Amino acid sequence: MNTAAATRQPDARLQPDAGTAALVPGHVILDEYVEARGPWSAVVAAGDVLTIIDLEGNQAVDCLLYAAGDVGTRYSAAVTIASQRSIILTTGSVLRADSGEALMTVMADEVGVHDTVGGACSQESNTLRYGQHTHEQHACVENFLIEGSKWGLGKPDLVSNINWFMNVPVDPDGALGIVDGLSAPGKRVALRAETDTLVLVSNCPQINNPCNGFNPTPVRMVVTRPEASR
Ligand SMILES: [Zn+2]
Repeated sequence: MNTAAATRQPDARLQPDAGTAALVPGHVILDEYVEARGPWSAVVAAGDVLTIIDLEGNQAVDCLLYAAGDVGTRYSAAVTIASQRSIILTTGSVLRADSGEALMTVMADEVGVHDTVGGACSQESNTLRYGQHTHEQHACVENFLIEGSKWGLGKPDLVSNINWFMNVPVDPDGALGIVDGLSAPGKRVALRAETDTLVLVSNCPQINNPCNGFNPTPVRMVVTRPEASR
C-alpha cells in the first residue's frame, strides 16, 4: 500500500520555503499543509496575512470566517456581496460579517475570480444532485463540523461560505454553473485579517463535479506578519 498516495501529502522538500511561498512578504508565523479532503483552522491575528496556495491547481477551498473574540460575528456572503456590489471575490474584496464589520481583506490574488454563492457540498446535497450512491462520500459540511467542534461551533454556525479557487459563473438566465476552475498549480490568494479572525476551511472532497478537477489535492497555508507592523 502506498501510504503517501493514500494521504496525498505533498513532499515539502519540493516546495519553496514559506517566506517565498507567501504572496505578501513578512515574518512567517505559520506554515501548514492541508491534506486532500481534509479540514483546517487557525486564528489569524489582526494585521497578519494568510496566503492560501493551490498547490496542484483546480482545488476548491471552502472557507468560513468568525471574529475570534466572538464567533457570533461571522462571515456573511450577502453583506459582502451587497457592500462591494459584485458576486466575485478578488483583490480589494472586503470580507464582512453580518454586522458589516470587516473580518479580512483580499490583498492579492493570482486567479482573479473566487466564488461565494455556490455553497458547500454535503452528504445531503450530493445525494440530491448525484444520487443515493454518493451519500457516504466525505463532504465539506462534515469537515466544517469536525474542525468547528474544536472551537465550539456547530451546525447553526455554518453559514454561506467562500469557495477559494472555485469558478461558479452565473448564466444570463440566472443559472449557476460549477465548471472547470481558472486556477492552476501554485496559484495563490492572500487575505489580511482586519480583526483577530478564526479561519475554518474544508479542502473540498467533491469528486462528482469539476470543482476539484475530479481529483482533490492538498493546499498550503502560510501566515506572515508584515515586518513594519510589530
Ligand atoms: Zn465541498
